[in-house]
Amino acid sequence: MRTSLKIDGPCKTYLTEAELPKAWYNVRADMKKKPAPLLNPKTLKPVTFEDLRPVFCDELIKQELDENTAYFPIPEDILTFYKMYRPSPLVRAYFLEQALETPAHIYYKFEGNNTSGSHKLNSAIAQAYYAKQQGLKGVTTETGAGQWGTALSMACAFFDLECQVYMVKCSYEQKPFRREVMRTYGGKVTPSPSMTTEVGRKINAEFPGATGSLGCAISEAVEAAQAQEGFRYVLGSVLNQVLLHQTIIGLETQTALKKLGVKADIIIGCAGGGSNLGGLISPFVGEKLRGEADYRFIAVEPASCPSLTRGRYAYDFCDTGCICPMAKMYTLGSKFMPSASHAGGLRYHGMSTILSELYDQKVMEARSVEQTKVFEAAETFARTEGILPAPESSHAIRVAMDEALECKKTGEAKNIVFGLTGTGYFDMMSYARFNDGTMSDYIPTDEELAASFAKMPKV
Ligand SMILES: *Cc1c(COP(=O)(O)O)cnc(C)c1O
Repeated sequence: MRTSLKIDGPCKTYLTEAELPKAWYNVRADMKKKPAPLLNPKTLKPVTFEDLRPVFCDELIKQELDENTAYFPIPEDILTFYKMYRPSPLVRAYFLEQALETPAHIYYKFEGNNTSGSHKLNSAIAQAYYAKQQGLKGVTTETGAGQWGTALSMACAFFDLECQVYMVKCSYEQKPFRREVMRTYGGKVTPSPSMTTEVGRKINAEFPGATGSLGCAISEAVEAAQAQEGFRYVLGSVLNQVLLHQTIIGLETQTALKKLGVKADIIIGCAGGGSNLGGLISPFVGEKLRGEADYRFIAVEPASCPSLTRGRYAYDFCDTGCICPMAKMYTLGSKFMPSASHAGGLRYHGMSTILSELYDQKVMEARSVEQTKVFEAAETFARTEGILPAPESSHAIRVAMDEALECKKTGEAKNIVFGLTGTGYFDMMSYARFNDGTMSDYIPTDEELAASFAKMPKV
């Protein structure tokens, strides 16, 4: 029992109505060297608006390709929806600080306070809005563990759009709860590979009983969007537009810190495709690039899928099926498959082109962590701060704790801010493995990575 804890300030900081962000911030506008353009895989030329039109919504393509407009006003209907679950609190982790006996001040921005359980709803509602504005009937997407599919189903229900989700078959079977949440919100969930698309039928014929992969589900979702009148494909991470929508996280954090009179020293986030991290740090990166303030930014990735820390900065395919545009990013190769023992999410082979470029320019650092260490941090966080964190989010908790323990050694009272992207109630099988002591750490060998790099396109 910890009875001597003195709380000398607000535990949670919320913004008032008047303080809520009214525009998303596009960090590319402040980057002198911009991220490399997406390439059309057939022509190897930078993709154009027309190239992307058959697949993506018009307004979202404009956001994707615009590297000069700093602020995009958030449409009124999206601001209204955000009121349902935003602002999210910026929480001072007093209880965790006390447990670590650190002089550091730790803050986290908590995005798990909505039914989808993560930050993904911030972009899902924006993407559904633009699809509706365009007069579309619906959207298609893929989902692995199911967070994105859930967020998109919620957003589509709000705007009365059809939502077709291709869910990796093994997850569909092993994670029936997520599937049912999606169906409750009206999402049509199809296990992938399915018999509803050409790609799916081909894979099923070739590999009977295939349990699916994210890459295959993407190919099915893209085909389904193109095959149906009035449908487009949407994606929940990696793309510039998704980072743009997620800047709502960083903009709120920036205002909340100003209200508290606190200057962050280190800002930390977990990185799968990079959307929550990019959204959290973008406004602060802008300050740094404009020479107004200095910060350390740390991207945290799993040691089993280390795109930034061990990947190559090169053009690669964004999907296993090689049908999407090619992106210059830190990548392990689109054929890279994380080990089956990997439990913590964040299993995408590549990384947002914006974050890749910031990392390459050394504006941002990256660190990889092993999953048992991640779950140890999750357990400490749950027992001190009360929130059961998502395994993905726990990567950021791990490094925030490590930095706070470093402060304990040096006696520095640094301000550490991290993104707590979501809750972990649907990840209890992974927690079970941790609790049973059967969780293992798998780190790919240099040989395995080399084999995957060898399959990358030569551009
Ligand atoms: C999807 C997800 C992530 C990783 O995605 P990014 O695009 O890298 O942010 C992190 N945390 C949670 C809870 C997620 O659902």
